Amino acid sequence: MVKTTIKTTKSEEIFAAAQNLMPGGVSSPVRAFKSVGGQPIVFDHVKGAYIWDVDGNQYIDYVGTWGPAICGHAHPEVIAALHEALEKGTSFGAPCVLENVLAEMVIDAVPSIEMVRFVNSGTEACMAVLRLMRAFTGRDKVIKFEGCYHGHADMFLVKAGSGVATLGLPDSPGVPKSTTSNTLTAPYNDLEAVKALFAETPDEIAGVILEPVVGNAGFITPDAGFLEGLRELTHEYGALLVFDEVMTGFRIAYGGAQERFNVTPDLTTLGKIIGGGLPVGAYGGRQEIMSMIAPDGPVYQAGTLSGNPLAMTAGIKTLELLQKPGTYQYLDKITKKLSDGLLEIAKKTGHAACGGQISGMFGLFFTAGPVHNYEDAKHSDLDKFSRFHRGMLEHGIYLAPSQFEAGFTSVAHTEEDIDRTLAAAEEVMSSL
Ligand SMILES: *Cc1c(COP(=O)(O)O)cnc(C)c1O
Repeated sequence: MVKTTIKTTKSEEIFAAAQNLMPGGVSSPVRAFKSVGGQPIVFDHVKGAYIWDVDGNQYIDYVGTWGPAICGHAHPEVIAALHEALEKGTSFGAPCVLENVLAEMVIDAVPSIEMVRFVNSGTEACMAVLRLMRAFTGRDKVIKFEGCYHGHADMFLVKAGSGVATLGLPDSPGVPKSTTSNTLTAPYNDLEAVKALFAETPDEIAGVILEPVVGNAGFITPDAGFLEGLRELTHEYGALLVFDEVMTGFRIAYGGAQERFNVTPDLTTLGKIIGGGLPVGAYGGRQEIMSMIAPDGPVYQAGTLSGNPLAMTAGIKTLELLQKPGTYQYLDKITKKLSDGLLEIAKKTGHAACGGQISGMFGLFFTAGPVHNYEDAKHSDLDKFSRFHRGMLEHGIYLAPSQFEAGFTSVAHTEEDIDRTLAAAEEVMSSL
């Protein structure tokens, strides 16, 4: 066990009090550090690549509020734009021109999107897209992949893995079997499994939804031909292909994973970055499909705060900042340095590890790998990861508190931040 070198008294007090106020003391489960053990730190403020906790400790941040902080936290231009927008009011519940501006930016950027609907979270976007897939095709079944996360809606909470997977057994109490019985699952990167599912019920599958690069089972990339194969299969069976780019949109490339891998889905979900740190989700696709959404068409979906002027403002400014030449080259450069460095240190210190990065998204598994899917990822040494995580925290490096989450860099991270991170990793891995 790495010895505690930082003072976290206030964090502990606040988190202890929170336990009686909110389930597990948090507003979202992974924040509670359950999978790595130990206490979470309670944040006070964030700026650029850094976090300060309530005890005054400073950390280099590789979570970036789970992706949105790609320009660095509290970017001065985003904050200034928000101040200005705030003066005009916090919510309209009526059309505003900011929605047009962000919609145009999204449509210009993302190859599959001709028309977009804004919502308030990635979960909401995925729920809505599923309804639309079913409405457009007149079919009920949907294929998702083991380890891919599409928000917490009932239909997506299906335990993957083992023989029960394809039976669509629910993953959480409170999710009726009837809700998930139309959710089929396959291992990621396993085109044959998807073929088999289509062959079984060729006329009942509305479509396939996936993270084109997985971030919610750790960082897992699509094998050569996997995305292309899904594109062909869905075409062949008259089903829709949906990329859940809530995490990868504007992260893997400005136009998302679909730009980077040159495979265009029928529909796309977005979130995280397009809200610039405020609550936003979106879904979009071909006009022919999107015009089925109310009030153009009969598929109902609505939201009191959808298209919120503050959220639109933060999203617009964030995308503008990302358009600066060299953004993605820079993210790729520093993140490759980080990822290569971590793997080299693991090797040098005798730990089996594998991982990689694309643009400002990366991952490191404590297993020799290679990791092609969630089953492979589960071979990781979770106990070792916990000790690594705690050790890094003690050294002022804030990593996602789970082996099964991707890491994120931002344009605010400097080469020096990466050097400091690698120096910490070397010390920690030497003592694991
Ligand atoms: C984060 C995430 C979601 C859920 O988004 P929320 O805003 O947390 O509801 C859905 N899909 C993917 C791929 C995500 O990474």
